[in-house]
Amino acid sequence: MNVHDSRAIEEILINSGYRKAESQDDADILLVNSCTIREKPWHKAISETGRFRKIKGIKDNILVGLVGCVAQQEGDNIFNLLNGIDFVVSPDNYNSLPEIIKKSYVSKTGIALVGFGDGSDDDFLGLKSIYPSESSALVTIMKGCNEHCRYCIVPSVRGPERNRSIESIEKEVRNLTEQGIKEVTLLGQKVNAYKHEGMIFSDLLIRLDKIEKLERLRFTSPHPRHMTKDVTDLYGQLRTLCGAIHLPAQSGSNNTLKSMGRRYTREEYLDIVERLRKKIPDISISTDLIVGYPGETEEDFKETLSLIKEAGFSSAFSFKFSPRPGTPAFKLDNDVSEDEKSERLSRVHEIISKQEFEFRQSLKGKNLQVLVDGKGRLDSQLSGRGENFQIVNFQHSKSLEEMFGKIVTVEITEVNSNSLLGVAVEK
Ligand code: SF4
Repeated sequence: MNVHDSRAIEEILINSGYRKAESQDDADILLVNSCTIREKPWHKAISETGRFRKIKGIKDNILVGLVGCVAQQEGDNIFNLLNGIDFVVSPDNYNSLPEIIKKSYVSKTGIALVGFGDGSDDDFLGLKSIYPSESSALVTIMKGCNEHCRYCIVPSVRGPERNRSIESIEKEVRNLTEQGIKEVTLLGQKVNAYKHEGMIFSDLLIRLDKIEKLERLRFTSPHPRHMTKDVTDLYGQLRTLCGAIHLPAQSGSNNTLKSMGRRYTREEYLDIVERLRKKIPDISISTDLIVGYPGETEEDFKETLSLIKEAGFSSAFSFKFSPRPGTPAFKLDNDVSEDEKSERLSRVHEIISKQEFEFRQSLKGKNLQVLVDGKGRLDSQLSGRGENFQIVNFQHSKSLEEMFGKIVTVEITEVNSNSLLGVAVEK
């Protein structure tokens, strides 16, 4: 979401007459887009903004602003934490950034603009133009979250759920595909809970699948509770829907899931996995996992390890529980020690790395459809992602200019630690 927002901010500012700086040294306005999902990115955002603030003492007329979720979380308080920064603007207020910047040049005090928008179509940041180097784009379809998982700060920094109309989403996707975009990833904090005027997520997927120039459709992040049959039934049916899904599980233990307020069980999660694999047997399923949630026993943790195996995850983002102020879990006894959390995390990493490698090995000798988006490691190679989201480097007789944005059939010949190697099956 922040990657998308940074790109949208850039577009908003360029449309107001600003130019993207070549480097930090060349910039007159320094913006930090921030995340507060865990304590570490919060610290990183604060220290980076503090570092930029020091540049103000060296160079004249520099503005420093903090945007993103830390901006929403801290609001005015940021001026106590970081005396001397010029503005804080939260995600729902990026359209006002040009105005805030103008005001900041004359204001003697810092300006804070935080709070949530009304959720109308105009309230969504859509991309109007693409770079020549882009063949895929992110499109926001809903924002906010009403789920209130007990560890999660997102509902308080991204606000309640608001959904964009299907017409507005379709218009943006059509416009992007007219400019050369082949792959669209739909974004939302709980993307598959999308609903608007009687239309639900599966209706939206079916509608977008009809856009002729769109080759691939992905979405992130879905909530297992909304991974209903009408959605899983579309796998293998819709032309554009890719054989890869990122489906956050967070834990494999029913005790921990309940304590987290996730509102599904391990069995329900595995049922979704089974439904998906029935439709696309070699679908790539990745996940998010939290280890060391308050009250997580060794037995609970072992349930997570067994879920990793049973679900056959091809990759995972795994983290130690990080208590966030203002969430119900913040008040719980953080009873799993840091050492135990680290030890559990390394056990997760060990299994996931093994499964990642096995998943890639299983692709050897198979043909993948690769969307070309860059040069490979060697001059004679092109690179791109397969439908299962794996990075593939491959030999091809044509240049990147000729092949950019095209989907090429590639036979996988070798498996590396982070990517696949192959040769184009030229027709
Ligand atoms: S569904 Fe996701 S964004 Fe919403 S509260 Fe739960 S973890 Fe946070």
